[in-house]
Amino acid sequence: MTEVYDLREYQKGLVDFILRSLETHGGAAIEAPTGSGKTLTGLIAATKYAREHNKKVLYLTRTNSQQEQVIKELRIISPALGLRSVPIQGRFNLCPLYMELEREETFTSESLSRFCNSRKKKVREGEPNACRYFSNKVSSDENLSRIFSTLPTAEEFLQYGREEEICPYESLKAAAAKADLVVAPYAFFLNPEVAERFLSRWGVSREDLVIVLDEAHNLPDLAREVSSFRITINSINLAEKEAAEFGDPELEPRFRVSDFCETLRNAILDLVRDKLEGVEEARIRFSELPEYAAIGSGMKMEKFWLYASLMSVVGDNICDIREDQGRVPRSHVLSLASRVLSWKSIDDEGYVAILNADNSGTIEAFCLEPTAVLENLRISKTIHMSGTLEPFQVYKNITGFTDISAKKLGSIFPEGNRLVLYYDGISTKFDSFNPDEAAKMRDLISGIIASTGRKTLVFFTSYNLMEKVMDAGFNFDYLAETRDKSQPDLMEMLNRFRRGNKPMFAVMGGRLSEGINLPGNELQQVILAGIPYPRPDAKQKSLYSYYRSRYGNGWEYAVTFPVVIKMRQAIGRLIRGQDDTGVAIILDSRAAYFRKYIPEMKLSQDPANDARNFFLAVRA
Ligand code: SF4
Repeated sequence: MTEVYDLREYQKGLVDFILRSLETHGGAAIEAPTGSGKTLTGLIAATKYAREHNKKVLYLTRTNSQQEQVIKELRIISPALGLRSVPIQGRFNLCPLYMELEREETFTSESLSRFCNSRKKKVREGEPNACRYFSNKVSSDENLSRIFSTLPTAEEFLQYGREEEICPYESLKAAAAKADLVVAPYAFFLNPEVAERFLSRWGVSREDLVIVLDEAHNLPDLAREVSSFRITINSINLAEKEAAEFGDPELEPRFRVSDFCETLRNAILDLVRDKLEGVEEARIRFSELPEYAAIGSGMKMEKFWLYASLMSVVGDNICDIREDQGRVPRSHVLSLASRVLSWKSIDDEGYVAILNADNSGTIEAFCLEPTAVLENLRISKTIHMSGTLEPFQVYKNITGFTDISAKKLGSIFPEGNRLVLYYDGISTKFDSFNPDEAAKMRDLISGIIASTGRKTLVFFTSYNLMEKVMDAGFNFDYLAETRDKSQPDLMEMLNRFRRGNKPMFAVMGGRLSEGINLPGNELQQVILAGIPYPRPDAKQKSLYSYYRSRYGNGWEYAVTFPVVIKMRQAIGRLIRGQDDTGVAIILDSRAAYFRKYIPEMKLSQDPANDARNFFLAVRA
């Protein structure tokens, strides 16, 4: 199969390595630099193995732009291989009916699914206007062959669906059921219920899947994110308000939803009073929530959990009533009840309970151990692709994919094309980054940009730090990835950066630090304004202790590994092709500690001058 493409030698080597690993292990992990054709390599290896072993391929991506990148590669290889490939996304991105609604209230994915199922049911029962996009056309041969032959991106198919009045979500879902390869977002497949429904429609068991994990370094955080949740005073107030609107239903005689909400709210407020004296957050035991509820209200703990279950029945009922009223079938009572019940089922080992003073009081179940969430993925063969997976053993242990063999592809571009410098005359340590340090950082950044005059992307360690440095005042115009920027505004800003000469400010680990493509002269200089150490908050300290007790080296697992990934991803924006040249400059005295992971890094006492000399030498 590799003969069909003009693969480079190292790509052929990677395909062979992946195939061997799939035969002998649970899968392969590949670290390869940007521009090395990782997507194509992973696709070819996965489809070849799947074909020979009668399996299907699932390609998971984190962002829409990464999904589009995969689709572009598939447009080339699918016809040559006779592959039926389909991209899928959730209804939020593919339901034109929902997008047309005047929405005073927000949907959740559950309420949108409920909304869609009810509209489809009505159409089937003879009410075509309930959803004019839904009809037999979605699974017609004509529609499916159009999808397989043109392989549209989700966005293109949304456009087509709107014009032709045919549901893009249902169409792609129908096509996915007949596909050899599906491209889906991680979020879609990390939710076990959604994943099971999807697999049963596809008619594929987990054992019969080869999963390609794109930008796999994100896997631990993605898994932690889907498994962690919060209960806030605000969410309790919303549930109480909603219950009042529906007559404050009784959970049993003389005990109403509002009574349960009061019990829960008082328990959290009492915890805040007792545990947060002089501190913003604290670790608590999971059992302290029901204990405080029981002590404060005089009810037994079993009663507390029983009421929580009855709350979900009430919430479900509210969804039905709202649906009949033509409103969003969503319920704050239901969502509060499911969080309280999840709190009950938490396994103390892999989670930590954090109490903080945000919004008058918030409790959070934070997942420390992502391996359990990823357990289902390990049933399938997996191919982990990323520009930053080292140290492999840490990645394997954190994700639980211990039965994969790993390979690193070194630099494929001339070494002299990139210069990585660090400057040790400044530090962005949390406690010492005062306005004077911010002004110093501003002067360093301004000096480098003025000295080289190159297209520059400045990555800060956090929005907070970026704001402090921006407050120090720059004497030139710049673009900035602020916290509240919407995705379309962000893309528009990125395009302005591509076309113009203004420097752009972003955050490491933010939305511009990976998955964006700035080839050639679109980006020539990257400045890392600090080392992106995580905030030493209660979650971070818990992660550190957890990994220290598990592997003996909490610092490497909880700090070094994520920091190195963020730094290398930011530096990786620089060189995208054979002829790209550029300079990355790290402004922080603590950079030297990371030399082991970024070996080409050199100390510079005058980074502005050294960077300028590099560009002069390149031009010469
Ligand atoms: Fe939306 Fe399609 Fe469902 Fe209609 S059938 S509600 S357009 S997702």
